[in-house]
Amino acid sequence: MLTRSALIYLSRQEGLKEFAARFRPFKKLTTRFVAGETIDEAAAAIQELNAEGCSASFDHLNESVANSAEAEAEVKEYLQILNRIDETGINCNVSIKLTQFGLELDPELAYRNSRAVVEDAARRENFVRVDMEGSNVTQLTIDIFKRLRAEFGLDDVGIVLQSYLRRTYADAQELVKLPARIRICKGAYNEPPEVAFPNKKDVDENYVRVMQLLLSSGIYHGIATHDPKMIGATIDFVQRQGISKGTFEFQMLYGVRRDLQRQLAKDGYNLRVYVPYGKHWYPYFMRRLAERPANIWFVLKNLLKG
Ligand SMILES: Cc1cc2nc3c(=O)[nH]c(=O)nc-3n(C[C@H](O)[C@H](O)[C@H](O)COP(=O)(O)OP(=O)(O)OC[C@H]3O[C@@H](n4cnc5c(N)ncnc54)[C@H](O)[C@@H]3O)c2cc1C
Repeated sequence: MLTRSALIYLSRQEGLKEFAARFRPFKKLTTRFVAGETIDEAAAAIQELNAEGCSASFDHLNESVANSAEAEAEVKEYLQILNRIDETGINCNVSIKLTQFGLELDPELAYRNSRAVVEDAARRENFVRVDMEGSNVTQLTIDIFKRLRAEFGLDDVGIVLQSYLRRTYADAQELVKLPARIRICKGAYNEPPEVAFPNKKDVDENYVRVMQLLLSSGIYHGIATHDPKMIGATIDFVQRQGISKGTFEFQMLYGVRRDLQRQLAKDGYNLRVYVPYGKHWYPYFMRRLAERPANIWFVLKNLLKG
């Protein structure tokens, strides 16, 4: 738990970000979780996933941008991604972070920027998933999502909820009524015990409760996890309830549990892989290390090997 907090703390240190980006052996290691630095590299990775029966979600890595010009550059990047998806015909939607579009500078800026991307995606009959970030922006993210959802359709824009947050079950109940497409995940940030369950057991219990609420709604949701227990609980629930495999999807991260990804796709479940790319990989990479202590040994071993 301490290691997890320490790594998430380090993920937010700007100085280390600069150092890591320049340190070649470290950068090389990111290829396990990051599909390259360019749209082309990510599109090639997605093509391979599609060939294995998995769909994908494009994610341009960047968060907490420093100014409005950077936020606008992110909009341009996403418009290019949406165009590339159409050109190549890959089976893929996009995931965005509102801090990438300027949420911490000005929520109206983030709304306008995300709206431009959702509008383009809707025109192309594609879909935008609004990722969920730290609890300091949970309410702002939900508020902007609701505005977007009021203007665009159920199949144009969706949101993410995190089962570690105490508020999430109530949020899921409210958002399902909109209706809204939700991705449920456990949550990847450092949160205080007042807002998030400190024990894994409670996070997992809440995950199962929210998963059951979502899958009973008849809306197409995303069940994002690599945890065999959560996956087992989901399969068990849909089988008991007679919910068909085609009415929801499992989601996993690029490079994590590829064996499980292939198995679920082979068993006829919809499986979407979240495919991040870009130069700003440091915070994302550090959160992946935090999720599994064994990943730190993987990094140290490879760094020592040179
Ligand atoms: C598609 C997708 C989208 C996501 N979007 C968001 C988001 O918007 N906001 C947010 O806060 N979080 C997001 N996450 C991250 C999520 O919150 C968790 O931090 C992450 O998925 C780990 O939780 P878990 O459910 O896999 O279970 P855990 O209990 O953490 O892990 C279960 C098992 O999965 C495997 N595993 C998990 N993580 C790793 C890893 N990094 N490397 C190797 N093995 C691993 C291990 O075998 C581990 O024992 C997303 C995750 C996915 C899959």
